[in-house]
Amino acid sequence: MPVSFSQTLDNYDVIIIGSGLGGLTTANRLAYCGHKVLLLEHHHRLGGLATWFKRKGHIFDISLHGFPYGMVKTCKKYWNKEIMKSIVQLKNIVFDNPQFNLRTTFDKEDFISILNTKFKIPLQTVNSFFETVAAMNFYDDQSMTTRELFEQFFPGRTDVHRLLMEPITYANGSTLEDPAITYGIVFSNFMNRGVFTFEGGTDKLIHMMSDELEKNGVTICTNAKVDNILVENGRVTGVLVKGKEITSKAVVSNSGITNTIHNLTDRSCFSDEFLEKADAIRVNNSSCQVYMGVKDGESIQDVGDLLFTSTSPEFDSSELLDIHTQSKTFSVYYPKTRPGHDRYTIVASMNGRYDDWMSLSDLQYEKEKEDMIARAVTDLDRYLPGVKEKIDWLEAATPRTFNRYTLHTDGTSFGTKFEGLDISRTIFKEVPGLFHVGSVGIIMSGWLGAINYGVIVSNDVDGYIRSV
Ligand SMILES: Cc1cc2nc3c(=O)[nH]c(=O)nc-3n(C[C@H](O)[C@H](O)[C@H](O)COP(=O)(O)OP(=O)(O)OC[C@H]3O[C@@H](n4cnc5c(N)ncnc54)[C@H](O)[C@@H]3O)c2cc1C
Repeated sequence: MPVSFSQTLDNYDVIIIGSGLGGLTTANRLAYCGHKVLLLEHHHRLGGLATWFKRKGHIFDISLHGFPYGMVKTCKKYWNKEIMKSIVQLKNIVFDNPQFNLRTTFDKEDFISILNTKFKIPLQTVNSFFETVAAMNFYDDQSMTTRELFEQFFPGRTDVHRLLMEPITYANGSTLEDPAITYGIVFSNFMNRGVFTFEGGTDKLIHMMSDELEKNGVTICTNAKVDNILVENGRVTGVLVKGKEITSKAVVSNSGITNTIHNLTDRSCFSDEFLEKADAIRVNNSSCQVYMGVKDGESIQDVGDLLFTSTSPEFDSSELLDIHTQSKTFSVYYPKTRPGHDRYTIVASMNGRYDDWMSLSDLQYEKEKEDMIARAVTDLDRYLPGVKEKIDWLEAATPRTFNRYTLHTDGTSFGTKFEGLDISRTIFKEVPGLFHVGSVGIIMSGWLGAINYGVIVSNDVDGYIRSV
């Protein structure tokens, strides 16, 4: 159970700012290693973007759409076996767009077969593509773009580019112009065994994680927004929160890397060279979602677990970001998703630009939200005729919503572009004792990326604390 702010002590070994999956994992690992850990979260609930909300008997998941099989090993090793046991595969991934219509298990074997038989790509080319992406790693040449990679293997085949790219753009906001290694690493992770989810929903996962944190002795305090990271003589000394200084040997920020540098830490703490690079970080796009709850007692037929749908003639990253995009992913949550909770919900997810939504007047904002909801219901009706009559809850989130709840720069859903990774990894060299964890560089984003990054950062912090 979170403690009230007045119960927090004046000193800890390490303070974690933010309880996204990266922050939670770092806190858990460090407490497990015996350090005295304080976790401060500005929201009333833990989880960051791994969150949910309840309306009229419905439970809506925000970011539980799918993650790679790697989560099984990661959760078993760094959380616990019970968490691991709830990870199950989503076997029905559907694509429907003007270029093709297909159903897949979204794993290597099925994709090789689809590319060869449906898209008529020679097996040798397909195998060679898979060998190339599987061999990609962080230390590779970073100058090749994903577009160049696709053109090398599938020149002019915009249908193949769409099949390979559209789900990844939804998963992490990357585009054809991002480094091919960011694509290769994430795509290969999914192709390993397919797409997985957490049976029982995000609420169950976060509750299980909270129990583990408590077992390991983490002090959790919610409704606690950190205003400043304190630095003295070039070293971190703690944080300022609600007017109180809490000291610590190390601070780990799970707030966005841009927030951490520009809003939480005094700029004078960093070198000019570091700030120049930090100022050049591009944050990734944000998201829009429409949440649809089906009336109690009503059911819908199985139309797949994840439905990538678009009426746009070809895949185009900027079309996916447009406020009136014709492309969206439907995540369908059947009662089996949350055993014991006999309801159907559908979440339509779209990518979105913060500036587009921020530039609207309040009146225009409400109108655009209503229009977006109406478009989502109309699109869903193509797969589930008459579904409108079965829905008793409709609500939308926009980049403004994501910004409000997470404080992330421009409401970013997937952290930063590639350059953010280097800044995140080297911040402690600028200010000893200051670490960053959380979505950066595309690779370290998503549920699996954020948790794995939490493990890496906790090792860095453990080493640092033991050395001072
Ligand atoms: C719509 C959407 C769909 C997604 N779908 C998927 C998906 O299907 N699969 C997948 O793997 N990933 C998905 N993601 C991405 C995934 O949810 C994130 O990459 C991951 O959860 C981010 O974890 P994080 O550690 O970076 O922290 P975040 O979740 O970004 O959390 C950061 C936390 O820090 C807190 N904080 C910030 N500043 C302060 C402060 N000053 N003081 C105190 N607290 C602060 C925030 O309140 C927040 O709780 C999706 C994201 C979105 C938005």
